[in-house]
Amino acid sequence: MKLFIDRIYDALKNKEAWLRKLLDMNDWWVRASCIPFIMTELGWDDHDEIEYYMDIFVWEPENRFGKTGTPPCPNCKSSKQVVRKGKDAASPCRRVCGLKRDYYIMGFRYKCNQCSELVNNKNKSEQASDNNLANNQTEISAFFQQAPPPTTNNNNNTDDDDDDDDDEEENNDNIQSQNCDYHDEPAEEQASASLTVTGSFKAWNDGSLQLNPFSGHFPAMLTAKAGVDNDLVDMMVSLFDSGMKSEQFANMLKELHTSHKTKLEILREGKIQQGTLKKKGELFSTFNDPSKYNGRLHGGSFFSFVYKRYSAKCKAFLGKEMKKRGAKGIKF
Ligand SMILES: [Zn+2]
Repeated sequence: MKLFIDRIYDALKNKEAWLRKLLDMNDWWVRASCIPFIMTELGWDDHDEIEYYMDIFVWEPENRFGKTGTPPCPNCKSSKQVVRKGKDAASPCRRVCGLKRDYYIMGFRYKCNQCSELVNNKNKSEQASDNNLANNQTEISAFFQQAPPPTTNNNNNTDDDDDDDDDEEENNDNIQSQNCDYHDEPAEEQASASLTVTGSFKAWNDGSLQLNPFSGHFPAMLTAKAGVDNDLVDMMVSLFDSGMKSEQFANMLKELHTSHKTKLEILREGKIQQGTLKKKGELFSTFNDPSKYNGRLHGGSFFSFVYKRYSAKCKAFLGKEMKKRGAKGIKF
């Protein structure tokens, strides 16, 4: 799948006509069912492993919707100075949890010229002030060179205090890691939201999406490192409000994802019987095999977190809706 992602990304970057045609026909999805056609276009023969591929949604709004779709900068809230940046060091995709199978969202990184210039100027001034501070510290240490060293007792006390602090921090980390079964933590989310402005941002940056007039076409709700399909979020909210627990929801998805894999496995068996596969003796991949089927499941606490995040987003809107409801009297 990784090789496939790279090939699609390159085709997208090179603005290849066949890919644009395919995207326009499929609402900017590269469906796994189109893989045979895509492989022909790419001159790539890997038809034996078609079942292992996942859908890719391409989020390139400035090409899809024209200039008005250019992702706005989440800092200055304008898209006037926003330009496309080069490829990220990491994967150009974000993996999203779907109803039966995960999919990927592919996008580029953008740079706001105005904000990145401000950041550069700020960094330069900070560096200059750091240098001044370092010079001052050298002068101060030279000045206090003759001062007597601290006593041994004091040193020991200081070390003990530091050790205690470290232990406390480690204990807190352990408690945090025990409370969740997934890397995508609320604390991490808050930390990423409070990061300083860098002048560059991903196509699916939450602040940018909120400002984009075409964000209604974006198919998922993203967290710091993962995402959940919008339809699945709607379903989750409805089920949670009806009394379903997050663990039950996670188990339901486990059932749907594994049964989908079994169906694909049976289809592949049919192909083997028909004699259309080259690798006849090869068994179907296991669910978790990262180089083949690469299935992934989330625990209940992840969905519980997503639900809370969704509720927090709707809170202001729902509050206004309550105020709009008519009433004849107030009961105390
Ligand atoms: Zn900006």
